[in-house]
Amino acid sequence: MGLFNKKKNYIRINPNRDSVPTTKPAVPDDMWAKCPNCKRTLYKKEIGAEKVCPHCGYSFRISAWERLALTIDEKSFTDWDNQLEQNNPIDFPEYLTKIEETKEKTGLDEAVLTGKATINDQAVAIGVMDANFIMGSMGTVVGEKITRLFEKALNESLPVVLFTASGGARMQEGIFSLMQMAKISAAVKRHSNAGLLYITVLTDPTTGGVTASFAMEGDIILAEPQTLVGFAGRRVIEQTIRQQLPDDFQKAEFLLQHGFIDQIVPRMVLRDRLSQLLAFHQQKGWCEE
Ligand SMILES: [Zn+2]
Repeated sequence: MGLFNKKKNYIRINPNRDSVPTTKPAVPDDMWAKCPNCKRTLYKKEIGAEKVCPHCGYSFRISAWERLALTIDEKSFTDWDNQLEQNNPIDFPEYLTKIEETKEKTGLDEAVLTGKATINDQAVAIGVMDANFIMGSMGTVVGEKITRLFEKALNESLPVVLFTASGGARMQEGIFSLMQMAKISAAVKRHSNAGLLYITVLTDPTTGGVTASFAMEGDIILAEPQTLVGFAGRRVIEQTIRQQLPDDFQKAEFLLQHGFIDQIVPRMVLRDRLSQLLAFHQQKGWCEE
């Protein structure tokens, strides 16, 4: 009766919850990802280092370090201003503790990385925001780092490439976070007055005070496909104007049609497109003596 002697390999459910066996054949969670756009379950190796859905082209959110690795020449990055002192200007409860925890978790000193690098051997000042750091929100340190990015770029006559990803102003810093918009915009203007190029790349999500200031001040504004770009949230606008908004409202594709964005560039070709744009603008034009 071999059938009855066959070894049973199912796991019995133990009524004592504390002693549920932990050795069940588990599939690691980090092997799979679900595409938020086409809803398919993907084997993580399929989405590659670029983290793009092979079925619909959706670009997954990536960290600032991952973005940097995809964009610049290997080992060309010099980190700028990564030791700025963080204050708690409105004494928001446990704010500094939260900052320390987030630093530990993300390996970043703030919601933006700034520095100097090369893209296909062309020197640039580069900034990359990271939505994993308190929603990429803009506080005084983020504002100061981006301002200094433009000031140093001006001193060294470098173009600026800035990847935006933000939930907006950092509420834990109150009015001080809003002041960053004007401060950065003034630095962008000084850089622009010197005839230097500024390219912004809007990545998912770019919202709030970041959209309302430096994200939209680029000489050339690129965006990744399907990127959420907006100022106020969709529900707030619908309630204010008492109208239903179109489904693709605040998507990069909608903004392109309405003239807010110059081009939507898939992540796979973004580095090459930046390289081309930098090369075009390095050439001396006929009007320059
Ligand atoms: Zn997909």
